[in-house]
Amino acid sequence: MTAAYDSLLAHLRETHLLTGAAALLAWDQETGMPPGAGDERARQLALLARLQHERRTEPRVGEWLATCERDPDGDADRAANLRELRRDFDRARRLPAALVEELAATESRAQLAWVAARAASDFAAFRPWLERMVDLQRQKADCLREPGHPRWDALADGFEPGMTAAGLRPLFAALRPRLTALRERLAGGTPPADALARRQVDEARQEAFVRAVVAAMGFDFHRGRLDRSAHPFCTNTGGDVRLTTRFRRDHVLDALGSAMHEAGHGLYEQGLAPAHRGTPLGEPVSLGVHESQSRLWENHVGRAHAFWQWCWPLAERHLGAAVAGFAAEAAFAAANRVEPGLIRVEADEATYDLHVLVRFELEQDLLDGDLAVADLPARWNELYRAQLGVEVPDDRRGCLQDVHWACGLFGYFPTYTLGNLYAAQLAAAADRALGGLAPWLARGEFQPLREWLRENVHRHGRRLPPAELCQRATGAPLSAESFLAHLERKLPTVYGL
Ligand code: ZN
Repeated sequence: MTAAYDSLLAHLRETHLLTGAAALLAWDQETGMPPGAGDERARQLALLARLQHERRTEPRVGEWLATCERDPDGDADRAANLRELRRDFDRARRLPAALVEELAATESRAQLAWVAARAASDFAAFRPWLERMVDLQRQKADCLREPGHPRWDALADGFEPGMTAAGLRPLFAALRPRLTALRERLAGGTPPADALARRQVDEARQEAFVRAVVAAMGFDFHRGRLDRSAHPFCTNTGGDVRLTTRFRRDHVLDALGSAMHEAGHGLYEQGLAPAHRGTPLGEPVSLGVHESQSRLWENHVGRAHAFWQWCWPLAERHLGAAVAGFAAEAAFAAANRVEPGLIRVEADEATYDLHVLVRFELEQDLLDGDLAVADLPARWNELYRAQLGVEVPDDRRGCLQDVHWACGLFGYFPTYTLGNLYAAQLAAAADRALGGLAPWLARGEFQPLREWLRENVHRHGRRLPPAELCQRATGAPLSAESFLAHLERKLPTVYGL
């Protein structure tokens, strides 16, 4: 029995090497690859995706699993690994290798087509790729779903085990009215000036500042990097963790927020147990929980009053004359402006989830065939008018703004909202456990918070399902309450109410 389990783990660890190699190629595609290499890169990534899939679905993996399952003895780690491996194996076996390979190749090419289409705000150029992708995602969902179950749920379950559209609707229903009421209340206050956010700051200075903050958070640069890309992201190559951010001369707070966000993801990856690398216990449990780590650092730390007491002198030191005349108070206020906008990744805490809601509705309709790809821009614009009260001037700032659908990520967006809700609930629990977070943040002492997260979230890997992880770490099931209470407490004070 032990022999079967050992063989299984050895096989998984070898497959994990392929996963890391693919992650590195994908990272390179986003950070430095010349465009002429795109076709060959798509073929490389497709081959690696197929090889990983073949290794995960080999008959002997099923035999090892079955042998292990006949012997229920063993420790809790083994039981958790076997439970998760069974889930992965059964899911992967439902997908034909040819579909997996075609998805990977289409994702890689569609992503390049999206970059060009977005730059030119040319939806017509992207449309055939999106049509192909929707078709492939439907095929994928039909392979994965139980008869009669929604396609959307089958895809979402791959990102957030247990997440369903029906389970999400009550959370969005709880969010919408109170976020709208909060926005109306803030409209009666004084919006913070955004003069600081708009100061022209040299990119090299921004980078030095951002690196200092990320290092203070405890991101390990010996096992990690920070680079630039058009769309910030974080990836794990197995041996190290790579973050990217972007720098715009006229928006220093954007670079900081993006870098803290990605570093929050990076701390989760770096906090996974090295002894379990390549097995489920060494993997993040879900994208919602992953996003909770990034949003916690971006919003509950980076947009906190106490944080700016520590961070402002650091900002002055790195950014120099560009920020002369401002103070910590102005930085805190500028970081907390609420303004319904067009772009999800630039959205404030109070409107972000409405952007997610739009995509959640659209992708269900695309998968169910209730919305044709050709009609996407018009429907997108209509929903932005209804949910956020803004007019979309062009597709670049409309339905072409996010790379996700080009990358085949359908059923993914709501993990951002789950991340916001988990983040607020975890931050409240950490606040209770540490006797108040503010004094620590004000001194730039992030270790107690990082260690609390490591202990309660990171080190578990996939040992506990997301719902149970949340219950154990915070003492309650996930709800919208902590998130709404956090915004309703903080934002009115920023608006002088
Ligand atoms: Zn994120």
